[in-house]
Amino acid sequence: MQEQATEEQVQQVIERLINMGFEVHRSTGALKTVLGAVGERREFDIRDIEVLPGVGEVHRISSPYKLVARNFRPEGTIVRFPNGVCVGGDQVAVMAGPCSVESREQVLAVAESVRRAGASFLRGGAFKPRSSPYTFQGLGEAALKLLREAADKFGMLVVSEVMEISQIPLMLPYVDLLQVGARNMQNFNLLRELGKVRKPVLLKRGIAATIEELLLSAEYLMAGGNYDVIVCERGIRTFETYTRNTLDISAIPIVKKLSHLPIVADPSHGTGRRDKVAPMARAAVAAGADGLLIEVHNCPDKALSDGAQSLYPEQFDELMGQLRVIAPAVGRKLA
Ligand code: PEP
Ligand code: MN
Repeated sequence: MQEQATEEQVQQVIERLINMGFEVHRSTGALKTVLGAVGERREFDIRDIEVLPGVGEVHRISSPYKLVARNFRPEGTIVRFPNGVCVGGDQVAVMAGPCSVESREQVLAVAESVRRAGASFLRGGAFKPRSSPYTFQGLGEAALKLLREAADKFGMLVVSEVMEISQIPLMLPYVDLLQVGARNMQNFNLLRELGKVRKPVLLKRGIAATIEELLLSAEYLMAGGNYDVIVCERGIRTFETYTRNTLDISAIPIVKKLSHLPIVADPSHGTGRRDKVAPMARAAVAAGADGLLIEVHNCPDKALSDGAQSLYPEQFDELMGQLRVIAPAVGRKLA
């Protein structure tokens, strides 16, 4: 309460909190009265209290989510895939491939090289969320078929982005992990539908989303019944313009503390520049990431999207060698 709050105002706030279902603990100091509200209720707006007369400040101590909270599964979630690959636990899973699927030759060539280097997932966009409607929008179902063919040929799993509800049934036969892109992190209708699906979801952080908002979006998936959720730090928009986004490495230990869900990092979209991808990938693994999502192209200079941030296969290979040294130093191993 504010210093000058009257006893009547204090009583009004207490009454309001009790009506909301809280138990109220009052502590009256020399200058200020502090009210502690204790209860199970999660869905309330702290502004309802902030606007009451005499209130100084309101701080929420408990989290607004429950299923994704660390204490729901203190041991941590491990998302298991058909071929035994796990995301979470002591493994670090690497997902690599082109930004967009462009041709059969391209997908097969990239899949072969990233598999040889040790990636367990093949990534590739079939439906592309592009800032401009005049740029390459993806090959759609044809791309999904190519991803599946290449992944099966080299013993990999497929991760690809689902942009809207109508694409879900189309994608299920082809993909092992459904990616929700940054631009869709708060597409709550899509999240609700994906909550009903029995296939793991990779939820990317929105370009201007807080960690709490990311976890609340993950809560939508879990509340719908889909417990196989992996979140992804892919960089956020800040005032820095040198890099495409600012990869928030600190989100990795923060999500690990707040939630039991595995978190992977995407240093490709997180930096937007090929020469910054490996250092940030190394940093992410050192910071405790459960996996990486990295763009690799057999011929980045001719890529139809995100060529500048795509690694050459040799660079990816070199990075994987470094990760094999870094991962054990933090108690992990490459999947
Ligand atoms: C992608 O991974 O291909 C992608 C479009 O990423 P984001 O949604 O993070 O921009
Ligand atoms: Mn991309």
